[in-house]
Amino acid sequence: MLEVIHYQNEATEKPLEASISKYYDQVRELLPELPKTVKIYFGDYGIIPESGIGGYAYSHDIITLSIDPDFQDKKKQLKDIRPTIFHEALHQYQNYTGEGGPFSAIDNAIYEGMATVFEQEYCGVWQPYGDYRETSEASLKQWLKNLQQLSLEDFQDTYSEWKFYHPKLKERWIVYKVGTWITDQVLEKQKLSLIDLSTKTAADVLKLYVQQGSNLTNNAAPHL
Ligand SMILES: [Zn+2]
Repeated sequence: MLEVIHYQNEATEKPLEASISKYYDQVRELLPELPKTVKIYFGDYGIIPESGIGGYAYSHDIITLSIDPDFQDKKKQLKDIRPTIFHEALHQYQNYTGEGGPFSAIDNAIYEGMATVFEQEYCGVWQPYGDYRETSEASLKQWLKNLQQLSLEDFQDTYSEWKFYHPKLKERWIVYKVGTWITDQVLEKQKLSLIDLSTKTAADVLKLYVQQGSNLTNNAAPHL
């Protein structure tokens, strides 16, 4: 169920309410501990140019949703609402929200990665922000190191570079790509589903990832 607490462009947003409510109920079937009713604050920021939509898990029961009223491809925009609701609802389920933060760079990466894989598993979309298939493993490993070395303070000062566009590295969505790559590796090697990971913290998932890495190293070069 849904309760709108703010409209930005009511004429655009009101007709979407029934769909949003339905999608939220669907994700709540997978994650039953979510609150029965989600509060939607329609805003106008964080809009992804590719989809005309922006989402943000503001608190455990408020999602900020931004719908560009001038976005040309309405069909695509409509189609992307469902994965956006799934993504934000997983953030809420994992307490990765505005009110739950701040979170370190690496925690950001892993929570964003889990939400992005959740979209893939349940909505069948490879979002551009999580799509690391064209990125070399060397870059992903280097960025992972970069994110791990950022202090919380440094990350807060530069988060939009790491999350959205890094002007020096000339790369978009580094946080999302690294997190999606790590999540995929953990799921594959541990033979888990995203629902299995949903109850884990970012630190738990990183631990699994590191353990896998050290196992591989041990196999390659056994201790003498
Ligand atoms: Zn997110």
